Amino acid sequence: MAELYDLIIIGSGIHGAGIAQAAAARGLSVMVLEQAGIANGSSSRSSKLIHGGLRYLESGQFSLVRECLQERALLLELAPQLVKIKSFYIPVYPDTSRRPWLLHAGLSLYALLGGMRPEVRFSRVPSSRWQNLDGLDTDNLGAVFQYSDAQTDDAALTRAVMRSAQQMGAQLKVTATFTGARLGQNGERDIIIEYRYHGVNETCAAKVLVNAAGPWVTQVLNRISPIPAQLGIELVQGTHIIVPGTITQGIYYVEAEDKRAVFVMPWQGNTLIGTTESVYHGDPADVRPLPQEEAYLLRTFARYFPKRGGDQTVLSAMAGLRVLPSCGSEEGAVSVNTRSRETLLHLDSEDHPRVLTVYGGKLTTYRLTAERAMARLAGVLPVRKVVADTRYLKLD
Ligand SMILES: Cc1cc2nc3c(=O)[nH]c(=O)nc-3n(C[C@H](O)[C@H](O)[C@H](O)COP(=O)(O)OP(=O)(O)OC[C@H]3O[C@@H](n4cnc5c(N)ncnc54)[C@H](O)[C@@H]3O)c2cc1C
Repeated sequence: MAELYDLIIIGSGIHGAGIAQAAAARGLSVMVLEQAGIANGSSSRSSKLIHGGLRYLESGQFSLVRECLQERALLLELAPQLVKIKSFYIPVYPDTSRRPWLLHAGLSLYALLGGMRPEVRFSRVPSSRWQNLDGLDTDNLGAVFQYSDAQTDDAALTRAVMRSAQQMGAQLKVTATFTGARLGQNGERDIIIEYRYHGVNETCAAKVLVNAAGPWVTQVLNRISPIPAQLGIELVQGTHIIVPGTITQGIYYVEAEDKRAVFVMPWQGNTLIGTTESVYHGDPADVRPLPQEEAYLLRTFARYFPKRGGDQTVLSAMAGLRVLPSCGSEEGAVSVNTRSRETLLHLDSEDHPRVLTVYGGKLTTYRLTAERAMARLAGVLPVRKVVADTRYLKLD
């Protein structure tokens, strides 16, 4: 007979790891199936920020920003080796679309939503200090705002959350590709799950299947029989490049030629620049940085850091995929940019859920997402002896 688990999770990105941690903390038996390696997908190709998302204020996503700032504060306590507060700088030139009054208003609201803690305060950098800002172009510079947010190593954070889950009994199988599941009919409650582990077909059973496959979310749903109802999504490619030479003062939040926000940040002794946003239609495994995206990021860097940006070599480039709710038409970058970044937790049935699917989401809010997933499944999972509370579990 196939081994029975309370939960089987597909995917060991930040959401699979987070849900495994939250489940194991409740004493539940849980196994994670991962086709490639921990943080193989978007969770190693993000902008590596644990942040409130200042720009989400422009699209009115206030509750998302408040939650992100609360989770940021918690992660700074739980994972001080992995999540570090950094200074962020926003330069304003005559052609910058967000004017100083707007930035002042946005940063004031950001501080308010962050509970006015010391790490959410902001200031205007005096012009006498502009020369110290890593060679930032000071020609026609009108103002520079400084505020704080946090940076992490996304893959290392994901590994730390998975380790925490494993320490509480969660099992992880890599390389284990989910190949199919049968939802029992006629009162048969357990789900039979098939996967290929190191090339061998294996079977297990679970009360609940969690689909945390990130950009592969639809592929996983289509392998379940009968296929559960699903949401329309769009995959949006985001590319980062790494150029030689580091910056020392913090992270720069600049405006590209199409008015989108681009970050320039220190990364492992070099400089990371990103990101782009273009709709992607292919297989998630095939996503690659496009030459035009690399050129766009290099142009943006050269515009703000002219002493360094002229003839930069790209050391490496990576592309990741965001899962966004679809809006039914071919979209330009601006509307992609303003679409909701809330995480959507979708159940196959509200009365007796057996499949929970995670759509989209943010690295920053993974813990909250995992706790919400557990709450949505509480009615169908057994009550076991609680082992821990994720609000207090240190990560290292
Ligand atoms: C360009 C970009 C920048 C971002 N920047 C930030 C940021 O700065 N801050 C922030 O908070 N958030 C950011 N995000 C969002 C965040 O990175 C993602 O929401 C998050 O990493 C998604 O994690 P996930 O676990 O859902 O998916 P993933 O990390 O993609 O994990 C899915 C996993 O499922 C596995 N899988 C898929 N199919 C199968 C199968 N059949 N069998 C077994 N395993 C399978 C994959 O191998 C993969 O490991 C960014 C996203 C992108 C794309």
